[in-house]
Amino acid sequence: MPSPVLLHPDQALDLVLASIAPPRVEVLPLDQCLGRVLLAELSNRFDQPPFDRATMDGFALALPEPPAAGSQFRVVGTAAAGSGLLPSLADGDCVRIMTGAALPPGATMVHRVERTAPLKTPGLEGEWIVLTQAEDGRNVNPKGANLRAGALLIGPRRLGPQDLGVLASSGYGQAEVGRRPLVGVLSTGDELRAAGEALGPTSIYDTNGPTLAALAQLAGAEVRRYGIVRDDPRLLEAVLVQALGECDILLSSGGVSMGEFDYLPGLLASLGVERIFHKLAMKPGKPLWFGRLAPGQGGAPGQGRASPVLVFALPGNPVSSFVGFELFVRPAIAAFQGLDPAPRLLRASLGEAVERQDTERLEYLPVKIGPSPAGSASMEARPVRYTGSTMVQALAWADGLLRLEIGEARLDKGSSVDVRLLRA
Ligand code: AMP
Ligand code: MG
Repeated sequence: MPSPVLLHPDQALDLVLASIAPPRVEVLPLDQCLGRVLLAELSNRFDQPPFDRATMDGFALALPEPPAAGSQFRVVGTAAAGSGLLPSLADGDCVRIMTGAALPPGATMVHRVERTAPLKTPGLEGEWIVLTQAEDGRNVNPKGANLRAGALLIGPRRLGPQDLGVLASSGYGQAEVGRRPLVGVLSTGDELRAAGEALGPTSIYDTNGPTLAALAQLAGAEVRRYGIVRDDPRLLEAVLVQALGECDILLSSGGVSMGEFDYLPGLLASLGVERIFHKLAMKPGKPLWFGRLAPGQGGAPGQGRASPVLVFALPGNPVSSFVGFELFVRPAIAAFQGLDPAPRLLRASLGEAVERQDTERLEYLPVKIGPSPAGSASMEARPVRYTGSTMVQALAWADGLLRLEIGEARLDKGSSVDVRLLRA
């Protein structure tokens, strides 16, 4: 039976998304827009291509139908890409034309240069060509054939390289994108050391700090690190005050369970951060704490902020904080910028049965994705070796997370599952 006291993660996500203000707009030059979120639909500013354009090097002809092999034409000019418009073409004449050049007025087609030969006939004035082979196409990209003026050019989305090209094609030199959140990352725990430092007999390396910072960066945030903070309420409070004064979103890890040194929930509350939920019906990641500091509250004395701060106090175990990020922080960073927060899912066939005893909580298991054997079109998902939420290594082997619903004890081999994708 589901525990009555623990919040379902789907409801928790609704609460997170409801805490996020509409995106704030920033106008950026195109070359700073990669990875940023375009907020509005933009229309195509002019017909593309803007003029009838040659798609081959050859000779532009002004005839209603493609002529037969053996036809002869006088060459009256040359059109290069960007060379400007030529005078109208008469139907016995042709113009030498290069790929990308505008067809002269009256021209209806381009005959490929490799299907022509120079014509050397004594007594013929000027330069002439003869068609050595009939042409099957017209080799013209007509004005507006790709996209009409006023048509939808691009809609809201995270801008990739090709999208920047599309914007540039229509002459947009800048775009209105969502402001990125400044995400602060801090790790708590007396036992933590930074990679590169010597490990004491009972210490471990901080794996959450580097992971969460990188996750936030790839999700589109600007990241500020607050390092490793010891389990000392005074030290923690000082760092929290600073971070709450600077960040839009604060991520901490550790210090949110029931241990004697788990100070974060109490400290955050005393600093004015309103708790929205603590503890979820999920595994891993049950002790996740989420709250919001209202505008004008908290920070250093007299330093009221204009915008709210969202605080995710994530559990300490590496897989727990990772899953917490994927489920709640990634959607929050997306929504902050104006992006659809829905996860990327891949329908796959389960490569081996998955079973569990305790079905009280929703559970996420790291899985690897590969091609199905037997040449089936679907992909196959297989659980990776995983001993539990301390096993950060499982994340390096996994491509996705498999979700087991509350009450679900078994998924058979061959079941169709929706895997939440972790890698680009
Ligand atoms: P806590 O909630 O602080 O008791 O943390 C739960 C467990 O996660 C403990 O075993 C911690 O040692 C471990 N842990 C906490 N923070 C980190 C971190 N940044 N990197 C790796 N393990 C951590
Ligand atoms: Mg701790």
